[in-house]
This record gives sequence, C-alpha cells and structure tokens, in this order.
Amino acid sequence: MKDVGQAKSQIGLKKNWWPVAILGLLLIPGCREIGPPQKAPTSVSDLENSFETIKNLGLQQERAQEFLKAITAVGGRLTGSPEASRAVEIATKLMTTLGLDRVTTEPVEVGRWVRGEKEQALVKSQQFGWQSLNICALGNSQGTPADGLEAGVIEISSLEELATRKDRVAGRIVFFNTPMDRTTIEPFAAYGRAAQFRVHGASQAAKFGAVGVVVRSNTFRQDDNPHTGLMEYDRNWPAIPAAAISTVGAERLHLWLQQDPELKLWIRMNCRQEKPVVSANLIGQLTGVEKPEEVILIGGHLDSWDLGSGAHDDAAGCAVALEVLRLIKEAGLKPKRTIRAVLFMDEEFGGTGGRAYAASGARKGEKHLAAIEQDRGGFAPLGLAFSREDLALKLQPLEEYLRPLGINWIRTGGGGVDVAPLKEQGTVLGALIPEAQRYFDYHHCALDVAEAVHPRELELQAVVLALVVYYLAQEGV
Ligand SMILES: [Zn+2]
Repeated sequence: MKDVGQAKSQIGLKKNWWPVAILGLLLIPGCREIGPPQKAPTSVSDLENSFETIKNLGLQQERAQEFLKAITAVGGRLTGSPEASRAVEIATKLMTTLGLDRVTTEPVEVGRWVRGEKEQALVKSQQFGWQSLNICALGNSQGTPADGLEAGVIEISSLEELATRKDRVAGRIVFFNTPMDRTTIEPFAAYGRAAQFRVHGASQAAKFGAVGVVVRSNTFRQDDNPHTGLMEYDRNWPAIPAAAISTVGAERLHLWLQQDPELKLWIRMNCRQEKPVVSANLIGQLTGVEKPEEVILIGGHLDSWDLGSGAHDDAAGCAVALEVLRLIKEAGLKPKRTIRAVLFMDEEFGGTGGRAYAASGARKGEKHLAAIEQDRGGFAPLGLAFSREDLALKLQPLEEYLRPLGINWIRTGGGGVDVAPLKEQGTVLGALIPEAQRYFDYHHCALDVAEAVHPRELELQAVVLALVVYYLAQEGV
C-alpha cells in the first residue's frame, strides 16, 4: 500500500464500551458505533444461516492463507516484471478452479523499473576506515554511474532544515534522517508524514545541487532491513539517485557523521527504467441472479515490491478477495447483485491498473455500487470504513455477527489507490481496517513474506468481508 500523504484517523473503542461510546459518538464526526440490530430487510434466519456457514467454512479451512501462499510463491512482483505476469497466471488458475461465473483479464500498459544487482554502500572515513551499510534503491530511482557515486554527506531532518542549510548541499549526498513519529498512534498517519522524504526528497535536494539522497526507512522497527517504495522526480531538477537506508544503518551513519563530518559515502545501484510493457488486471465474479449489472467489488493489488514477496502488501488483499468469493459460493448463496473480485496491477508505481479499470469500455452498462479495497496488511479486523456515512446504518443488522469477528466500529473513510477512480461514478468506497501497529515492520521490505501473515487473522478478514459483501449484494447500497 502506498497511501502517502493521506493520513487517516482511526478511532477504536473498547469492547464493553456502551457508556463511553455514546459520549464518543457525540464527539467524533463520521465515527458511528454499530448499534443494536434494527429491522433487517434480509430475514433473520437467512442472516443467521449465512453467517454460521461462512464463519465455519472460513475458520475451519483457512483457505485465504493458501491463496496468499500461491501468489507469494512467485516472489516479489514488481509492476511489469516476469514475476508479476506469472502472478496473473497463477491467480487466473485459482479463480478458474473456484468455478466462478466469469474470469477475465483486461490489459493495462505499465512502466517497468528494474532494480538490477544488489545495491552497495560504503562509508569511508579517515578516522575509522571503511564500513558497509545496508541500502536499497527506491522505486523509480536512477542508478549511479557504473563505478558508483562517492560524495560527502549532509544529514537533514526536515525540509525547513534543508532550506536553511542549502549552501552546504551542493556536491553532497543528502541523508534524510527523519524517523516516523512514535507518538502518533495511527501508524498510517505517521507513515504519511515521514514518507514525503522518500517520495520527494531527491528533487528537493537536487534543487540545491545534491548528487544523491539516502533516506531513513519508514518503519517503527529498529533493524537492518531497508524499506523501498516509490519516489518521484520533479522534472525541473536533475534526477539524482535515491536510496533507502535501514533504521539501524541510519543510527550508525548519524553517529559516524558526528565523529567524522568529513566522511565520504560511496553507493552503487544499477537500477533503471525499461520500456513499458502490457500487463493485466484480473477479474472474477459471481454474477448476480437479479441485477447482474449492479456490482459490489472487492479487490487488492497483485503487484508488489521485490525485497520480500509482497505478502501483507498486498497478496493478503488479493487472497481475501478470492476467499470472499469462495466462501459465498461454497455456502451455496446466490447473490442478487454481482460480486466481483478484481486483482489490480500496478498500485505501487502509480495506480495505472485502477485507472484503466474505471475507464475501461467494459464498464459500460455496469453500475458499481460499492468497491472495497484491502491494502492495509493481513492483520486481525478492527473496524470497517466507508466513504458514505449511512453505510454504518445500512450494516446495522450485521452487528451481532460482525462484533465477535473483531469489528468494533464503522467509520467514514475507506477505499484505496486502485478503487479511488470509481468514486466519480458515484461508487461507495470501503475497506476493512485491521490492527496495524506491526504493519510497517513488514511494509516494502524483505520481511514481507507469507510466514509473516497469520492464517487465522487473514481468514477473519475474509469472513467479515464475505458477510458484508453478500449483504450489500442482497440489499443494495
Ligand atoms: Zn499496497
């Protein structure tokens, strides 16, 4: 998940919270507790039966984890890479095996950035010799010259400081050393603020003559894994190489610079842009028996970063989408409206898949009532978020079923990069919000592998969303 600059507030309420909740509701616009069940348009016995069947099938079999393993088995899936193409093939097979009513791909032209050989970094000091550091190229970055780039280093902790010290930047590598703010409880909010250095730091530094940037990784965790992610060049300034350094590496470099401000940093990266290629969004659905043209969409993105195998980000979202359709089908439910899983291509390099899906001629005659995107990691459910406030009321009849699965609230918000373009068609955007305090331990780094996703937590997401999606397919939005 990218989600830069869209800091989202998230307000959780404890269980057994009724007295607190009422006060909370008065204070928090857009956050509505799930109240006691009201008159349900779908009969209570239907709901009960569907809930029991879906819950039992899901928790007994834990198939979401199997889908996740099949997708992550190809490794990291950089947009435009052979691994991403292979993932489309594998997921197509998974959908076909599920016996869905329709499985199709829609072509998307995407860019192709290649990391090349493993990046190298050395600190060279007159005082303490040579020391190696763990770095990785940021996605979209230019490489260095073949024999590397060597320069002095200036450490910067804010854009204001960069402007103040701009006279010392020319000819140097700027080291952006700004940790994610630990006092911010919502990790995505802390990430959104820290990630600006990763995304825009290179051009901000190049403006003052820097020759490269090294950016502290966006994670609360102290370890030696650099975290990659998208960076963007402002065409007004030279495109200089941009790397991420691990949090432990950033602390070491900080100390070394205090001991020897004249040290040199040498980095070598041979990442590069290649020609665009044609990739695909993958679409599978259970066609509605009464209103097939009305669609409830659930999706994730099939592409990922390449340092791990993109398990939390976002094989988890893809696996949940597949499992939602499987659970509804296996439960023998016949949705009135179409329930569609879309595995989008190219979320990480800018969302071309999501834009292509919304704009496709294939959408003619279709009406997307709701589009739910799972791209916040495969952790245990906490709440639900929808772009339209009245969805909380709409889903009230599900309260007694959702609460034991971990859903404490429904608030405004939701959506994701891939489904955002549907909003202008009047589609309600949604998301399940999982517990996310550990998400950035894994995000965009080598630790994001299948073993990092807990099968039962992932399955709980699928069970919740199968209920929600099926209910919306029956009742409309
Ligand atoms: Zn993602």
